[in-house]
Amino acid sequence: MIGREALSGAFATIHAAFDELIECDCGALATREQLAMLKNYEKIRRRLPALEHPLINSLARQATPEELGGKLSHAIAEETLISRGQAAQRIKEARDLGPRRGLTGEPMDPTMPATAEAQRHGSLGTGQVAVIRRFYHQLPGWIDAETREQVEARLAKEGSQFRPEQLADLADTLADCLNPDGNYSDEDRARQRGLTLGNQQADGMSQLRGWLTPEARATLEAVLAKLAAPGMCNPDDEKPCVDASPSEEAIEGDARSASQRNHDALNAVLRGSLASGKLGQHNGLPASIIVTTTLAELEAAAGRGLTGGGTVLPMSDVIRLARHAHHYLAIFDKGKALALYHTKRLASPAQRIVLYAKDRGCSGPGCTTPGYYCEVHHVTDWAQCRATDVNNLTFACGPQHRLLRPGGWTTRKNARGDTEWLPPPHLDRGQPRINTFHHPEMLLHDGDDDEP
Ligand SMILES: [Zn+2]
Repeated sequence: MIGREALSGAFATIHAAFDELIECDCGALATREQLAMLKNYEKIRRRLPALEHPLINSLARQATPEELGGKLSHAIAEETLISRGQAAQRIKEARDLGPRRGLTGEPMDPTMPATAEAQRHGSLGTGQVAVIRRFYHQLPGWIDAETREQVEARLAKEGSQFRPEQLADLADTLADCLNPDGNYSDEDRARQRGLTLGNQQADGMSQLRGWLTPEARATLEAVLAKLAAPGMCNPDDEKPCVDASPSEEAIEGDARSASQRNHDALNAVLRGSLASGKLGQHNGLPASIIVTTTLAELEAAAGRGLTGGGTVLPMSDVIRLARHAHHYLAIFDKGKALALYHTKRLASPAQRIVLYAKDRGCSGPGCTTPGYYCEVHHVTDWAQCRATDVNNLTFACGPQHRLLRPGGWTTRKNARGDTEWLPPPHLDRGQPRINTFHHPEMLLHDGDDDEP
């Protein structure tokens, strides 16, 4: 057991040693010595995660959502200012490589003991650890525990001698030896399936990547055979052909690549599905694309709209979409919300649309959840005010909405109409916080009017 003083003493020692190293003039060292020094630094870098794993696992076991202000990955991201994706990665790595506890609290070895041990000693780096974890998680389900342990130990040993790309080759060979016939069960495939929509880039484009099950592939194939054929669903055509057979002229004039045709076919399927009205409701509104923009931008047919999912749409797309599907277009003049007053417990669909424009996403501290996935929260409890006024509403994601209950976190509106989140008094986490994530422009304005 280490005391708090010993702990802060150890940190002071590390920082003092770093300060000393930074002052070092390494230019005088010989080439061999400089390379050796880099190896030393790499060793330090490699050992660091092993120090974090026990902390992360202990937090995962003990800390309440109340104390964390939401999910663990969000709290780690907030505290250390790393991305939420990175924080989630670290939690997963800690689960594989950190100490565990059994059901009754008894200490247990890490899931991958040999890799964990090697990481503690700095003989495996980030790259090697990633290779071994990927290999381990992709092993077919029928491979027994003993074999798993053996190959994990083997890779951990080889990883201390080879670079990640060499280790990856070795892992592939090992996987082939273990499963020469390529026997994978439905469970293995089900585990691996997934689609990830990447972040929107500066040019507005997004990368879609993932793994399809054989069934999903067969389905997609059949749809593409029809809709991605030359002449089908071509946005360059005056009236794109989406259900009949394309005319000879449409086929002749189709200059798109096969990949572009696939893209347009998928878009046509999804748009058809939205327009069919068969998707029902989502959060009280018909499943639809919700776009908010300003009147000035709409009239000028320039600028951009923002969807409830956080996607930036060029105005040309907003207008094109309006021709195809049922959707809601909320227009705002100088950021003023419509005044809507209701005496109902639930926010009306119109109020939800206003929130897409006002809040854009969860108003919880540091939260990145877009509006489509948010619940509506009454800032002043409905039981007290008996009115559902849109200026009294805010968006909150599920995990953070659950923190808002008597004795827990609270919210209030400040003079500017922004929602402030306050932790319960016993947590002592400082000032009320406003989420600027969905309103980056607020950070730019803030400097001026915060001056006393
Ligand atoms: Zn949230």
